[in-house]
Amino acid sequence: MSADLAIVDASLRTFDPALPHAEALAVEDGVIVAVGSTAEIRELCDGRTEVLSGPGWHLTPGLVDGHQHLLMGAQIGRGVSFDRVHTLERMRDLLREERRRIGPGAWLRGYAFEYAALGGRDYHHSLLDEAAGPGPMLVFALDLHTAYANAEALRLAGITGRREFADGSFIVVNDEGRPTGELREMAAIAAVADHQPTASPEEQLGWVREAMAGQNSVGITGIHNMDGGRETLEALAALEAADQLNLRVRQHSWIDPSDDEDTLRDVLARRDLRGRLWTANSVKLMIDGVIDTGTAWLEEPDAHGDGGAPMWPDPTRYREVVRRFHNAGFFIATHAIGDRAVREVLDAYAAVGSAGRHRIEHIEAAPPALQSRFRAEAVSASMQPVHLRWLNPDLSDPWSQRLGVHRCGHAMPSGDIWTTGANVVLGSDWPVAPYDPRQGFFAAQERRAHDVNDRRPIGASRPLTGLETLAGYTVNAARVDGGPGGRLSVGAPADFVAWGDDIASVSTADVLALPVLLTVVDGRIAHRAE
Ligand SMILES: [Zn+2]
Repeated sequence: MSADLAIVDASLRTFDPALPHAEALAVEDGVIVAVGSTAEIRELCDGRTEVLSGPGWHLTPGLVDGHQHLLMGAQIGRGVSFDRVHTLERMRDLLREERRRIGPGAWLRGYAFEYAALGGRDYHHSLLDEAAGPGPMLVFALDLHTAYANAEALRLAGITGRREFADGSFIVVNDEGRPTGELREMAAIAAVADHQPTASPEEQLGWVREAMAGQNSVGITGIHNMDGGRETLEALAALEAADQLNLRVRQHSWIDPSDDEDTLRDVLARRDLRGRLWTANSVKLMIDGVIDTGTAWLEEPDAHGDGGAPMWPDPTRYREVVRRFHNAGFFIATHAIGDRAVREVLDAYAAVGSAGRHRIEHIEAAPPALQSRFRAEAVSASMQPVHLRWLNPDLSDPWSQRLGVHRCGHAMPSGDIWTTGANVVLGSDWPVAPYDPRQGFFAAQERRAHDVNDRRPIGASRPLTGLETLAGYTVNAARVDGGPGGRLSVGAPADFVAWGDDIASVSTADVLALPVLLTVVDGRIAHRAE
């Protein structure tokens, strides 16, 4: 046996029960071929082995962001970030600045708009028209479920009144029936977004390369991508052919309630497409929206009387589609935020038998009776503790206000679901929240964001420990497909990270700036600290 890459003199956390800790590992052709002591691994090295000696290096399996939107993030992330902008005044300043930068007439794009910035008001484009200046503006809300247009963007898109779409999306109008500029859910957003000039494929691939490099630099080696279809697979294949794909990607093709038979057949036919680093045998569906806008599907209505309807107008059809993809051997992820939504998805999975293959995304307010079903029914819980950043412990935030005090105790209960024995997969939902997993480590353990004044934990769920959080980003993510990943063991893909300290036990105060010394994807160095 020989090796093309070896790491020695390090401290490894392997997640391999047979050898939980080690000093060194060897890699050949993208696969880990040996794990053990430095002396054992040095035996395997010869003239062609690149040997990296890492005293002070703490190796873990590479982190997998269990829920993200790579191409969307690469594109939307080009615009102005309104992350942590809590007032319209500040937002207007940023819009004016951006208009000066891009000039009149250009599309002013933004993302991560926080509902709190509206201060409880309904959106109307007149709030931002002056600041957005001469030209169209389209700004995504933080969850990407709503977007806000200015008057000029509405004009260019020819939108003059209420319009509803097959997926439940709609153009919001005021009492006079005039569009306010608020675009609720995907198809409504597309009605405006599709009027933007499109970038060339080369330009778009360049953005994706940048987004991958940014993720490698914070220890991410893989993602479960939760949107897109044929064009996403083509982009992944093009990047791989050019030797530029530096993330392992489980691609979930997006299934919309309005998809017709031809579209479904097209997705089903892609099941066995794969590259070295990507797969196409997963789908993503969405049974509801988000709590903040009243589109989450709830057992009892929210404070505004909303929450009674699913995103699939006909839930029976949702169950049929689940059965179809299940029978075809697909892995299914369904976005379900409200308690009713989670229950319905669990029921749909139970009807076919998840067999550990299927999962639910977000699960933002599930009571204990629902929490315990995940383990019992072998459904993975895909959660994003970093989303606690928009909730306040005093319940003054839009999410808590909508949901009502009596239900806020079950806010994002990742620790409680973990305690039931379920497989909890962690991620960011980037560009919804920053992808830096170190922020996820902080939030999972402290039950709050790092950049808030009120340091009380949010909700009643127990926090995750550092080791559980690491498992949620590694071995649990790999468990979804039953493959050998997520561990540092012989036969596992050579995806790993060298940190400046043990990320599973370092204090939350230190985790945010924990050095990422080396990131290896498929046996190749994708990031190395200077
Ligand atoms: Zn998402």
